[in-house]
Amino acid sequence: MSKVAEYLRQHIVGEVLTSPSTRKFFSTDGSVFTVMPQMVVYPRSTDDVRKIARFSWQLAEKGKLVPITARGAGSDQAGAALGDGIILTFPAHLNKLLELDTKKNIARVQPGINYRNFQDTIKTHGRFLPPYPSSIDFSTIGGAVANNAAGERTVKYGATRDFVDGLQVVLANGELIETRRLSKRELNHKKGLSTFEGEIYRQLDGLITDNWSLVQSMHKDVSKNSVGYDLLDVKRADGTFDLTPLIVGSQGTLGIVSEISLSIVPNNMNRTLVVAGFAEIDRADEVVADILKLQPATIEMVDRHLLEFIETHYPNQLKGLLEEPFPEVLLLIEFDDIGKAVQSKKVKKLTKILQRVTQDFQITTDYDERDELWKIRHSAASLIAHTEGTKKALPIIEDGVVPQTHFKLFIHKIYEIFKKYNLESAVWGHAGNANLHMQPFLDLATVSDRQKVFKIMDEYYGMVMQMGGSTAGEHNDGRLRAPYLPMLYGPEVYKLFEATKKIFDPFNIMNPGVKIGVTKEDQLRELRHEYNMDKLGHHLPRT
Ligand SMILES: Cc1cc2nc3c(=O)[nH]c(=O)nc-3n(C[C@H](O)[C@H](O)[C@H](O)COP(=O)(O)OP(=O)(O)OC[C@H]3O[C@@H](n4cnc5c(N)ncnc54)[C@H](O)[C@@H]3O)c2cc1C
Repeated sequence: MSKVAEYLRQHIVGEVLTSPSTRKFFSTDGSVFTVMPQMVVYPRSTDDVRKIARFSWQLAEKGKLVPITARGAGSDQAGAALGDGIILTFPAHLNKLLELDTKKNIARVQPGINYRNFQDTIKTHGRFLPPYPSSIDFSTIGGAVANNAAGERTVKYGATRDFVDGLQVVLANGELIETRRLSKRELNHKKGLSTFEGEIYRQLDGLITDNWSLVQSMHKDVSKNSVGYDLLDVKRADGTFDLTPLIVGSQGTLGIVSEISLSIVPNNMNRTLVVAGFAEIDRADEVVADILKLQPATIEMVDRHLLEFIETHYPNQLKGLLEEPFPEVLLLIEFDDIGKAVQSKKVKKLTKILQRVTQDFQITTDYDERDELWKIRHSAASLIAHTEGTKKALPIIEDGVVPQTHFKLFIHKIYEIFKKYNLESAVWGHAGNANLHMQPFLDLATVSDRQKVFKIMDEYYGMVMQMGGSTAGEHNDGRLRAPYLPMLYGPEVYKLFEATKKIFDPFNIMNPGVKIGVTKEDQLRELRHEYNMDKLGHHLPRT
C-alpha cells in the first residue's frame, strides 16, 4: 500500500482501498473514458473529507500531487467522475436525509443519497424535487448538484441550480464553508476573514467586479446550460453575493460538497398527459412555441428512428402503445397544475393548437395509462444499453442544446451528420428545451470508429455552437466537452474560468482533467477501447 493510503488509513474513519479490483471498478464511469485511480476512499464523515483535502493540499505544497475526485454513482457521461488520485466515493456512508420541513418546503441532504430514494421519501410527504435526471434510479443528489443536472420537468421548473439554496463545501485546503446568498454587509465581513475562505471571497469579488461586462456577456440564449462556471449568478447588481450557483455545476473542480440545502415543491399526482404524433418535424416545430405558453410540466420527444429501432429489437416494449407506421416525431406533453379545471382548460387550448397540424393525439388523466405511455419516451434506455454487433451506443454528442427557434434546424442537422457517417440515427429528449439526446453506434476497438468519434464530435459541437447553442444542457463538460469550452465562450471568458479555478484550487488538486485545461490529446489517451454500461446496466436506466 502507498504511503498516502497508509497515512489516510491512520487518520480517517472511512475505508481506504487500493486493491486492483476496486481501482479498476472506479476507473470507468458512464463515459467513453478511463482513468485508473491510485486509491478509493469511502468517507464516513465531513471530517474525513476535510482531512483528506488538507492532506492532499499539504502534499501539493511539497510538490507532490495526489488529486481528489468526488464521486456519486459514477453515472457521469462526460468522464467527470474519474481521476488518477483519490476517488472519494459518497454513496456508501454519506447518504442521509438530514432534514425535511414540508411547511417551509426545504430539505437538507448528504451528497451520496440516492436520488430515487430521496424522491420517493419526499413524495410520501406530497413533495418532489423537479429537476430529476433520467438516471434518477441510480444516481445521487451530490452528482446532480455537481453537474447541474436537469430532466423532463426542467421545461417548467428549471434545473438543479434553481433548487439549491445553500451548500456546505470542503475547500481544497480542508476548510469547511457554508454558502448562501449574502448581503453586501455580509460579503464585506467574509472578505475581512484571514482564512482561505476570506481569500476566495476577496479574489472572486475582485475578478467579477473588474470584469463585470464580460461576465454579463456570458449569457447564452438557451433554456438550460450546464457547462463552464456560472459566474453570472454569483454577484447581482444589488451587490448580493453567493458562491452556491458557482459550486453547482462545477463538477468537483472547485471544492467538495458535503451537505446540500434544497427547495422542494408540491407534487400533484393528478396530471394530464397528451401524446401527439406529427407526420413531419416541421409541423411539430410549428406548435412547440405555442405549447410552451401553456406552461406544461413536460414537452418530451422521441423520433421515428428511435421507435423503429425499439420495434425491431425490443418489439414488446411498444406493444399496445403505438402502431406502425410511426409518426416522424412524437411529443409527450404533461400538465401538473394544481386543480383539474386548470388542466382541462389548458388541454382544451392545447387541442386547438395541435389540431392545426395533426389529428393524431390522445389525452389521458388515468394514472396507469399515463405510466404506460411514458414507457414510449423511456424506451430510449433500451437503445443506450443495446449492443449492435461489436458496436455500442456512445455518449459523445448526447446533450447539445440550441435556442428554441432553431429546434427543427437542429434535428435536420443532426440527421445530416448521422447520414454523412453512415450511422443509424435516433433522437429523443426535451423538445421544449431544444435539448436533444442521441448516441451513435460505434466500436471503440476499431481505429476507424475511434477516428470517427473525434470527427463527429468536432462537426456536431461546431454545429451547435454555430447555432448559438451550448455543448451541454444537462450533462456538463467533464473530459468530453472541456476542449470545446474555450470555443464556446471565447478566450476572454475562458480566462475568467481559469482564474476562477485558480482562486479555489491553486494547486490543481480538485478533480483535474475536468472542465479546465483539457486537450484533444488528453482525450485520445483516456479514450476507452471498449464501452459498456455493465455497472449501471442492472439498474435499467431510463434516459
Ligand atoms: C442512462 C443515463 C441517463 C442520464 N440522464 C441524465 C439526465 O436526464 N439529466 C442529467 O442531467 N444527467 C443525466 N445523466 C448523467 C448523470 O447520470 C447525471 O448528471 C447524475 O446527476 C450524476 O450523478 P452521479 O451520482 O452518478 O454522479 P457522478 O457521475 O458520480 O459524478 C458526477 C460529477 O459530480 C461530481 N461529484 C459527485 N459528488 C460530489 C460531491 N460530493 N462534491 C463535489 N462534486 C461531486 C463528480 O466529481 C463528477 O464531476 C444520465 C446518465 C446516464 C448513464
